[in-house]
Amino acid sequence: MIIRKSSAEIEIMREAGRITARALRLVGEAVKPGITTVELDAIAEATICDAGAVPAFKGYHGFPATICSSVNDEVVHGIPARSRRLLLGDIVSVDVGAIVDGYYGDSAMTFPVGEIDSETRRLLDVTAASLAAGIAKARVGMRLFDISAAVQAVAETAGFSVVREYVGHGIGREMHEEPQIPNFGPAGKGPALKEGMVFAIEPMINAGTATVRQMDDGWTVMTSDGACSAHFEHTIAVTADGPVILTVE
Ligand code: MG
Ligand code: MG
Repeated sequence: MIIRKSSAEIEIMREAGRITARALRLVGEAVKPGITTVELDAIAEATICDAGAVPAFKGYHGFPATICSSVNDEVVHGIPARSRRLLLGDIVSVDVGAIVDGYYGDSAMTFPVGEIDSETRRLLDVTAASLAAGIAKARVGMRLFDISAAVQAVAETAGFSVVREYVGHGIGREMHEEPQIPNFGPAGKGPALKEGMVFAIEPMINAGTATVRQMDDGWTVMTSDGACSAHFEHTIAVTADGPVILTVE
C-alpha cells in the first residue's frame, strides 16, 4: 500500500528535507582533493545533529555512518573511511538522510573532486537531468512507471546505462516505503499517482555496463566493469500543484 501524507505531514517532511539538503550542500562545499570521506561524514552528522534532527542512515541495518560515500566506480552504499582520501579528478556520490519528528528526508548528489574529464562531467549532468525528468512526471494522473520511463529515456539516449538492482522508493515514517520506483520501465503502467504520495526518486546511472557487484564489506556496490557511476536523489511530494521537491533549503 502506498501511504499518502497529509499536508501537515508533508510540512514536517519539508523540514527533514531542508536539513538533509543543507547537510548535502555543506558536504559538497567541502569536497576537494585530499579530504577523506570520514571528514565529509563528520560534516553531515554535525549539520543534522546541530539542527536537532537525527541522521537517518546511521545504524540502519547496521550501517556505520551518516552518509554513504561512493567514489568513482562505487555506485551506492560506500562506507566513509579514514583511508579514503579523494583525489583530483575523482567523483564522489554522497547520499544522506535526516529524521525530523519521525519523518524522513533522503537525498543524494555526485560531486566532482576538482576538475574532472568531460565524459565524467557528462555522466553527472545526464544523471541530474534524468532525475529532473523523473520528477517532472510525478503528477496526479500520471502512472508510477511514467517516472521510471522518463529517467531511463534520458540516461539511455545519452548512451549511459541504468542500474537495475537498486531503485527509488516511497518515504515517510519509514525510509523505505512502498512503492519501489525503478529507474526503468514502461510508461503508462503502474499505480496511478495521487496527491499526498511522497517519493525518493534516485537514478543510479553507469557510464559503462548496467551490471553491478557487491563488495565483501556487505555494503559497497560497484560497477562490474569498473566504469564510473553517478547518483542523484530528491525526496518529492505529489501535490495538486504538481511535484514539490522537499529536499531543498
Ligand atoms: Mg538516499
Ligand atoms: Mg533513497
